[in-house]
Amino acid sequence: MTSMPDGSLARLVVVTDPATRAHRPGAEIWLGVRTPGTEVPERVDAILDVLTAAGAQVQAPERDPSDLLLRIHSRELLDWLASAAERWEAGGYVEAVGQDRVVPYVFPTAAMLQGLPLRPAAATHAEAGRFCYDTMTLVGPGTWEAALASAATAATAARLALAGRPAYALSRPPGHHATRDGFGGSCYLNNAGVAATAMREAGLERVAIIDIDAHHGNGTQAIFYDRADVFYGSVHVDPGRGWFPHFMGFADEVGSGAGEGWNRNIPLEPGSGDDAFLAGVAELCAQASALGVQALVVSLGVDAAELDPESPLRVSRGGFSAAGRLLAEMGLPTALVQEGGYHLETLGLLVADVLGGFRVGRVARRTPLVRAQQRSRLCTKCYICAHADHRRPRPAQSHRDSARWRAPRRGLCRDVAG
Ligand SMILES: [Zn+2]
Repeated sequence: MTSMPDGSLARLVVVTDPATRAHRPGAEIWLGVRTPGTEVPERVDAILDVLTAAGAQVQAPERDPSDLLLRIHSRELLDWLASAAERWEAGGYVEAVGQDRVVPYVFPTAAMLQGLPLRPAAATHAEAGRFCYDTMTLVGPGTWEAALASAATAATAARLALAGRPAYALSRPPGHHATRDGFGGSCYLNNAGVAATAMREAGLERVAIIDIDAHHGNGTQAIFYDRADVFYGSVHVDPGRGWFPHFMGFADEVGSGAGEGWNRNIPLEPGSGDDAFLAGVAELCAQASALGVQALVVSLGVDAAELDPESPLRVSRGGFSAAGRLLAEMGLPTALVQEGGYHLETLGLLVADVLGGFRVGRVARRTPLVRAQQRSRLCTKCYICAHADHRRPRPAQSHRDSARWRAPRRGLCRDVAG
């Protein structure tokens, strides 16, 4: 495995906080079996070591995310997460049951309630199932502190991005499975949603979240599903083929009400590699551009990698680098927010590949047309290209009507696309 060249990420700002290591889930309860779990604090160091060796600048969070969290999560969820570990300990579960983490066991699903209103449960061990929708996402003493710090890295990265500095949030625990009212999938607070909300609060009217994690970000989708100001697009392993989150992430989920057309899912067959993955990323970039978004949040998971234990996709390091280039070629203020990625030996390199590709894409946008065209997989005649004449605002109608133009959702001009 080759390493990143020294200094290759010198202009990148990495927003990180030691508190993100405080969350130690200790296990995942999967199919009733206690397994070690893969969302571990060592992920932070695996990433940070590689990025700092490549010259990235490290910065602490400087943005309290509390107000942003209240825009995307219910107060009930936030209050419960903030106090759950304490109440579990006070409830005597550690001594009486031998369980040192908050684990739900009963879930008030629609099938249970049968239309009756959801009531708060008196018992802490029952209340857990009101908010946590799986048994894998345990809460311990440092969970809230880490989740809050993780959200703060995303809020800060958004602020930096809008100030003209592409920034990467080393957010951990990840966030894209956290919904407005609930959590699961090793996620507690929706970090990408925090970043997008920070951009909206800063005055931008339209923002995109593009999610390249191997799994569908059901939480992010749910939060923004009926909104026409935050586009959510995801390329991920097909939940219909038996993969988490199982019940969401299908191609026909396109948003509802005003948000129709602002959600896009591109499910991939298990075993898919670079070609399918990059075609999906390119389509998401094209649709976001067509909607006129003014800034970008990338849900940067790298668990689509071939060696990752959590998904059956087979994306290469070169594929991740190419994805970074595609995202950069949108030419938008961009905050990249860490999601999944669980193969500790290669995790840092894979993240650096995306960020390195992103840097190359940014440079390509500043070079003459021909060089940009050579570096880009995308056409230089359409509005998602690197050529300044074709940047947003959209090119002249004549270009859109030209023979080269294809539907915005494809975004590629077939005669020159790589
Ligand atoms: Zn994932």
